[in-house]
Amino acid sequence: ASVTVRSSSHDYEVLIGKGLRRNLGEVISSGYTSILVITDSTVQDYYLQDVQESLAEAAPVFSAVVPAGESSKSMGRYEDLLDRCVELKLDRNSLIIALGGGMIGDLAGFVASTYLRGIDYIQMPTTILAHDSSVGGKVAINHPKGKNLIGSFYHPVKVIYDMETIETLPESEIRSGYGEVIKHAFLSDAEWAHRLLKGKLSELSVDQLENDLMRGIQVKASIVEKDEREAGIRKYLNLGHTLAHAIEAELGYGEITHGEAVAVGLLLMMKLSNDLKGAELPLQDYKEWLIRNHYPISVLNRIHPEQMVEKMKLDKKTLRQKINFVLLHELSDPYVVEIEENQLVEHMSLLMNEVS
Ligand code: NAD
Ligand code: ZN
Repeated sequence: ASVTVRSSSHDYEVLIGKGLRRNLGEVISSGYTSILVITDSTVQDYYLQDVQESLAEAAPVFSAVVPAGESSKSMGRYEDLLDRCVELKLDRNSLIIALGGGMIGDLAGFVASTYLRGIDYIQMPTTILAHDSSVGGKVAINHPKGKNLIGSFYHPVKVIYDMETIETLPESEIRSGYGEVIKHAFLSDAEWAHRLLKGKLSELSVDQLENDLMRGIQVKASIVEKDEREAGIRKYLNLGHTLAHAIEAELGYGEITHGEAVAVGLLLMMKLSNDLKGAELPLQDYKEWLIRNHYPISVLNRIHPEQMVEKMKLDKKTLRQKINFVLLHELSDPYVVEIEENQLVEHMSLLMNEVS
């Protein structure tokens, strides 16, 4: 299956299928002078060889491997990778392939966007979460003072999603990825959301997964096509993220995965939508889904509402100290609204009591 994403620079295709990594020669355009596959140490062991072999006819293929984990999205690794590009004499007709999850996609994409003022790159997502990060053209590395502070908008020439690679993902990463999948469902389609809420991640079939990822990509693509640089509706994609970023910053990255934090953030989003704004979102069903799938909602007992509010004010997307939230009038109907600090503290405390 495939989806076409339109961007201001070019249109690109997202291919989803089983075993695509073994047939890259057929889906990558010819004419590249050389190819550099950038991956992490975990993904390397599983899939690098397949990818290199299937590209062998296309062009000379090189690889660069960084340690797995968010800490590789750093200035140091970025510099190492640029050194490698120079050493290998990659030129304007070289291609970078980002083989891995969102960390690799963001890092390799940022290298591609800046080396020689930009060379082609392909996203080969290997996590569920990366259905989100591989589309939309945001690439970045972290600064010690904050996540994704150094980056650019730079779209891949293709996204190649081999569903077989998802099979080796640990349970916590499946959970993380579904935090963003359910966000995409909440933003777009009540029926899809209700279907997800009835299910259990451990019983997911590969076909269901493929279908969910395809739909998630369609939602993301249709929003970023209308608002590439986040002047308006792209903000809706931050549903659940205001609290998620604060939790991640408070607990330290690595304590909780991004998607798990988003899933917890969506719970507060529902609470605020219902209690402050009169929506009737399925809060109870959602809470049960989180528990059934072992999301770490107990983190809510380890945070302090006042501190969370301070963190939210530091978030780079928070303008002039106002805390803006994306809420839902109903499933599939998002809006942005400013929430008063005291109301936020109060509803976070209420939510904490409900889950403890
Ligand atoms: P990740 O890339 O760090 O992958 C998570 C873990 O899974 C890593 O340890 C990795 O080695 C391992 N892994 C990856 N694929 C695997 C596989 N097939 N089998 C077994 N293990 C595998 O993290 P992620 O959750 O994919 O992405 C998170 C990153 O994405 C963050 O840096 C976040 O900022 C970024 N992000 C970017 C955007 C965007 O629009 N650019 C959107 C959302 C998130
Ligand atoms: Zn996210």
